Amino acid sequence: MRSLLKPGLSVGSIFDINLQSLWDSGYRNMIIDVDNTITAWNNYTTNPKLKNWVLQAKNTGFSICLLSNNNQTKVKQFALELGVIAAPKGGKPFSRAFQSALAVLRSTKHNTLVIGDQVFTDILGGNRAGLFTILVDPIDSREFIGTRLTRVMERLLAGRRPICKSQHQQK
Ligand SMILES: [Mg+2]
Repeated sequence: MRSLLKPGLSVGSIFDINLQSLWDSGYRNMIIDVDNTITAWNNYTTNPKLKNWVLQAKNTGFSICLLSNNNQTKVKQFALELGVIAAPKGGKPFSRAFQSALAVLRSTKHNTLVIGDQVFTDILGGNRAGLFTILVDPIDSREFIGTRLTRVMERLLAGRRPICKSQHQQK
């Protein structure tokens, strides 16, 4: 169980990810969480820095699919604004959520990676589905009440280091 909670890679934010190196390793598709991974929790507004990163990933060759447990209408709209696709439904960490993302990406678990800020949804689910997982620090300390509880579990069970709020103010 413990190994399923361990990400393949752990970085401060999406901007610290070496896109070219992942491409060179054979990855072609990204399943990306939304809240606190690419935007502050429940704040579905795009910004130039994020748009530029998405463009950079797409220019590298990656196909991107957003996978979120939040309101699906909002997620789909956000995906549209970013010029990427959204999985038909959420439901992380269950395998069917990741399978639905793989299906719309027309990809396989071997060439697809998962990026997210939560150990018990993004990392556990991604690992169980056989995907390479990348854990990012949450963008903001503000989040869904249920998530605040799982943060304690992340530290206790997954050995996640405490996140210093000032570290991740998005610039
Ligand atoms: Mg999240």
